[in-house]
Amino acid sequence: MKTGLVFHELYLWHHTGNHADYVPYGFPVEPLHHSESPDTKRRIKNLMEVSGLYDKLIKIKPRKATKEEILLFHTDNHYEHMKSLNDSITADAGISAPTGTGSFDIALLSTGGVIEALDHVIEGKLDNAYALVRPPGHHAMPNKAMGFCLFGNAAIAGKHALKNKGLNKIAFVDWDVHHGNGTQAAFYDDPRALTISIHQDRNFPTNSGLMSENGEGKGSGFNINIPLPPGSGVGAYEAAFDRVVIPALKEYEPELIIVPSGFDGGAGDPIGRQMMTSKGFQSLTQKLKKLAEEICEGKILMTHEGGYSAATVPFFAHAVIETLAGEDLGIKDPFQAIIGNLGQQELQPHQDNLIKEAELLLKNIK
Ligand code: ZN
Repeated sequence: MKTGLVFHELYLWHHTGNHADYVPYGFPVEPLHHSESPDTKRRIKNLMEVSGLYDKLIKIKPRKATKEEILLFHTDNHYEHMKSLNDSITADAGISAPTGTGSFDIALLSTGGVIEALDHVIEGKLDNAYALVRPPGHHAMPNKAMGFCLFGNAAIAGKHALKNKGLNKIAFVDWDVHHGNGTQAAFYDDPRALTISIHQDRNFPTNSGLMSENGEGKGSGFNINIPLPPGSGVGAYEAAFDRVVIPALKEYEPELIIVPSGFDGGAGDPIGRQMMTSKGFQSLTQKLKKLAEEICEGKILMTHEGGYSAATVPFFAHAVIETLAGEDLGIKDPFQAIIGNLGQQELQPHQDNLIKEAELLLKNIK
């Protein structure tokens, strides 16, 4: 298996300033650190190095996205606004999107890294790829930064695939615990992209990601939200994949699957309330990989989004990337024994009802 990896030291230099989680410090909030810190990303890379997985991956060198590429999704105003903040020591670039010196340049490198990975997969130089980039992208809207995201990495890569790489149909499966609102907005009226987001019901953005948001105009039916109740475990995620995500992809038959990959659905995440485990993430990856081999020559591109428990996230990511690569480095997740046995990991009746409702959306994919 030829699996690519995008990473760059500069991704860790994007500075999100002094916050307590996502709340800016200032009386009565004592300075701490921002949720979206370099820690999880650095530790993913480090774990891959010590396990040997890093050596098995084909390194893809990131480059900065061009303005033209950013404008595939964003407005000129947004691009210029972000550029104007590049020399500021600290700023909030939009809605809960803190930046530091050089963040604009690093965000371009993040988006450009995802585009490079996509090109490699589409051109058949790689079977699949994981872009371990930062800052993340799936909340960024056409005209504003939002939710720690400056540019819509996955959305821009998708637009690029359709406009510049000759693809006609692509699909997104966003498993970050928060709604992939930016990716949804990018293709809401576009039947050339099936956008699926499986997230925690009304976490972030507030009142976004409802099941009733099903696309509009020509894109009607091609946006699927699965807002799982808080407390959903591996059983609920697997059922949602088996009964909604995989059948939707089978029906749609995309030429490429892009996964905005956040690990904040993992048990113990500070800003999520789901109970996923490394075995759970591995299982979802296996399901996607098997299907991709059937319908689109295995073409999967994952782009890193959230995940804020620096202790557990590296094990979730390692399990996913190892599965993409078809490797088994013998790394045992030391958290699995406890979080895998949390109560209600199995599908619960109220979760089953929600998934039954989501199954009804399958008929809208024409
Ligand atoms: Zn998230």
